[in-house]
Amino acid sequence: MPDMATETKQDYNITIGLEVHAQLKTESKLFCSCSTEFGKEPNANTCPVCMGYPGVLPVLNDQAVDYAIKAGLALGCEIDLNSKFDRKQYFYPDLPKGYQISQFDHPICNHGKLSIGSKDVRILRIHMEEDAGKLVHAGAERLHGSDYSLVDLNRASTPLIEIVSEPDINSADEAVAYVKELRKVLLYIGVCDGNMQEGSLRCDVNISLAKDGQPLGTRAEIKNVNSFRSISRAIDYEYKRQSQILDEGGEVVQETRLFEENSGKTHSMRSKEDSHDYRYFPEPDLLPLSLEQARVDKARESLPELPQQKKTRYIEEFSIQEDTAAILTDSLDTANFFEEVLTKGVNAVKAANWITGQIAAYLNEHKLELSQTKLTTDLLAEMLELINKGTISDNIAKNDIINELLEHGTPVAKLIEDKGLAQITDESAIEAMVQEVLDANPKQVEQFKSGNQKIKGFFVGQVMKKTQGKASPQLVNQLLAKLLK
Ligand SMILES: [Zn+2]
Repeated sequence: MPDMATETKQDYNITIGLEVHAQLKTESKLFCSCSTEFGKEPNANTCPVCMGYPGVLPVLNDQAVDYAIKAGLALGCEIDLNSKFDRKQYFYPDLPKGYQISQFDHPICNHGKLSIGSKDVRILRIHMEEDAGKLVHAGAERLHGSDYSLVDLNRASTPLIEIVSEPDINSADEAVAYVKELRKVLLYIGVCDGNMQEGSLRCDVNISLAKDGQPLGTRAEIKNVNSFRSISRAIDYEYKRQSQILDEGGEVVQETRLFEENSGKTHSMRSKEDSHDYRYFPEPDLLPLSLEQARVDKARESLPELPQQKKTRYIEEFSIQEDTAAILTDSLDTANFFEEVLTKGVNAVKAANWITGQIAAYLNEHKLELSQTKLTTDLLAEMLELINKGTISDNIAKNDIINELLEHGTPVAKLIEDKGLAQITDESAIEAMVQEVLDANPKQVEQFKSGNQKIKGFFVGQVMKKTQGKASPQLVNQLLAKLLK
C-alpha cells in the first residue's frame, strides 16, 4: 500500500460545507441578563434562566437580534421579517435545560454569499441560537485524559449565529479562505470578536468525496475544528480516510467525527442524527420574532464599508497594488491606521508600502498587532515627511528609525539628532569624500578609465560606507561622474 502521507494524487472530488458558529459580542446572554465576559470563575456568570431552572422565562436580547441582522446584511442575505425560535432537544451534561433554543425552520437570514476571490460561496442560512455550557475534564490523568468532568455554565446561553454555507467549497485552501473572509467581515461590522482561541468562532466541517460525474458522496461532519490550521489538517485527514475506504470498495458512514489537535486525526463520535431526532418544536416561552422593516433598514444604514469594498476602493482611489490593498484591509485596525496617516498629507502609495513592508515585517517577526506597538500615525507621517524633504534617506529610515518608532515611539526629530542620522546634503562635503575615495583607490580608477563601467558601484559603496549611508546616492553618482571624467 502506498504511504498515505506521500499520496498526493487526487482521485476524488472533495465537497465541503461549513457551519461556522460565531459568538455575538453582546454584553449579556441571549435570554437573561448574565454577563458574557470570558475567563470568569466557573459558573460565576449564571442565573436560574441560563441554568435551566423550572418555571423561568427567557427574554430575548434585542442587541443580539440587531447583530444577527447586521451579519446577514453584510453577507448578502435576505432578512426574514418573521422568524421564530424552536427547542432542539438532546441530552448532554453541559445543557441543563435538556434542550437548546435555536432557530429551525424559520431562520432570521437566508440565501447570502461571500466571495473568496476565486469564487462566490453561497450561504444557505444564518440562524440564531444559544450556546451550551462547557465540560472541564478534570481529575487524575489517565490513558484517555481524566476520570471525571466538571460543568461550567458561564457560556450557557451566550448568543451565537450559525452561518451555514452551501457545499460550494472544493479544497482545504478554499475552506480556510472562506473562514478567514467570514471572520474579517464579522470583525469589520463589530458583531463578533473573532477570537478562535477563546471559542468565539468555531467550525464544523462537512466533507464528502465523489468521483467525476458521480453524485455527492455520504458526508462526515467534523466537529471541534477551531483554528485555520485545524481546518486544513482535518480536511486533509478526512480526504485520506474516506478515499481509502472508497478505494477498498467500502462505504463512508454518515456520522459526526471529532477532530483531535494533537494527532491531527478525526475520530468517530456518534452516528449522525437527523433533525427529526431532535424533536424540534416551537419554543412556547417566546413569541415568534417579528421585525419591522425599519429596523432592518436602520441596520443596513449602520453597516460600515466592508473589507472587499474597501480593498476595491484603495486600488481605484490610490492606485495601490492589489496584494498591498489586501494586506491593508486584512484588519480594520490596519486600514484605519492607513487612512489616518493619509489625513496628514502623506502620499498614499508611500504610506501603503511602508505599512505593508517594513512595518508588517516587524509585526510578523514579533507576533504583534499594530495597536500593540508605540508607532502612531503622527510618527509615521513625520518620518515620511522627513524622507520626502531629503532630511533622511529611505535606507536610514528602514535601518535606524522605523523599529525605534515601533518599539519606543521616540520623536523622529530627536532620533535623528541623537544618532546623527540626517542625510548629508552639503555638496562640497560629499565631493571631498568622493575625491578621497578616488585617491585611495588608484587601481580601480585605472580600471574604470580603461572601460570597466561596473567599478562605479564599488566607488558608490565606498562613499556610502564613509558617510554611514547618509549621503544622497543620487548626489554621489552625479559627483562620481563629474570627477571620473
Ligand atoms: Zn443567566
